Amino acid sequence: MKFLNKVGEYTKEAVQAAKYIGQGMSVTFDHMRRRPITVQYPYEKLIPSERFRGRIHFEFDKCISCEVCVRVCPINLPVVDWKFNTEMKKKELKSYSIDFGVCIFCGNCVEYCPTNALSMTEEYDLSTFDRHELNFDSVALGRMPTKVTEDPFVTPIRELAYLPKGVIEGHETPHTAKRAGLRPEEIAEATSENK
Ligand code: SF4
Ligand code: SF4
Repeated sequence: MKFLNKVGEYTKEAVQAAKYIGQGMSVTFDHMRRRPITVQYPYEKLIPSERFRGRIHFEFDKCISCEVCVRVCPINLPVVDWKFNTEMKKKELKSYSIDFGVCIFCGNCVEYCPTNALSMTEEYDLSTFDRHELNFDSVALGRMPTKVTEDPFVTPIRELAYLPKGVIEGHETPHTAKRAGLRPEEIAEATSENK
């Protein structure tokens, strides 16, 4: 009798476990029916935000060789090579470079440059086979950055904070759809109206 009781209990537990597995599998199969929320890099790319800190852009004719960027950099990275022009009594910039293999993209140099010679771009794919190629000189730093939205081979996808209200996935959102929240100029307008 004892043995039969044990068999009965075992069967009950096995049926219960099978039920739970069945429920679990139905949830798993339900996930398969949903659209995979995956960005298919390199054919699809997320559009970086307007404050994204990508590769630094440099404008040679705006730089006054003040070396503020060097002083505010955590590792004094920018190399500012200048000579003093005695005729004009002015510093003359000879060359400028930033090694992106060492840069941490903190943006301090951009923040403190008094003439806005430096700016952050949205370019982030900088990988090279040789680390010395990451040492950008003033010409390389002055090149126009690549844009995700202007690449004919790339489908740009909007990031979460840039989607319309109530939408949490960028794949099926048209480019013209208005993002949630107010733009800075709209906030400024609303604040001035309230005054
Ligand atoms: S982004 Fe930061 S680490 Fe890179 S050069 Fe500028 S200050 Fe230095
Ligand atoms: S802070 Fe700006 S102006 Fe001064 S050396 Fe650096 S890039 Fe040139």
